Amino acid sequence: MIRQKLTQFMMGRYGTDDFSRFMLIAWVVVYIAEIAASRIAGSGSIIATVLWVLTIFLVIYNIFRTFSRNTSARLAENQKYLETVGRIKKFFSRMGQRRYYHFYKCPTCRQTIRVPRGHGRIEITCPKCRSHFIKKS
Ligand SMILES: [Zn+2]
Repeated sequence: MIRQKLTQFMMGRYGTDDFSRFMLIAWVVVYIAEIAASRIAGSGSIIATVLWVLTIFLVIYNIFRTFSRNTSARLAENQKYLETVGRIKKFFSRMGQRRYYHFYKCPTCRQTIRVPRGHGRIEITCPKCRSHFIKKS
């Protein structure tokens, strides 16, 4: 019965997604940081207060999203979150590859092209627009 009521209550509401899971983890991290800051700098310190406000914000915002009826807005938020994560992952992946590869942007279509290092001057053909350009590898 409670389960049925809960299902009924959640009808048309957004629920949880990747972004809400991230905020939950962020909440735990910020909460631990807040405890540490209170111990080190004192509970009345600016840093502890800011972190405390942040924990409250994360909880309220997460609850708001879960029960929101504006599912398209929540989906857009989640999409933005996933895009940001993707961009961060790509950045770190490139950082790791920089030892063995050069990353060039095609002068015609701005497509990023990965070229192995140590082959001297080479002519690169863009895989997207087929234009040629010369670079040092
Ligand atoms: Zn191109």
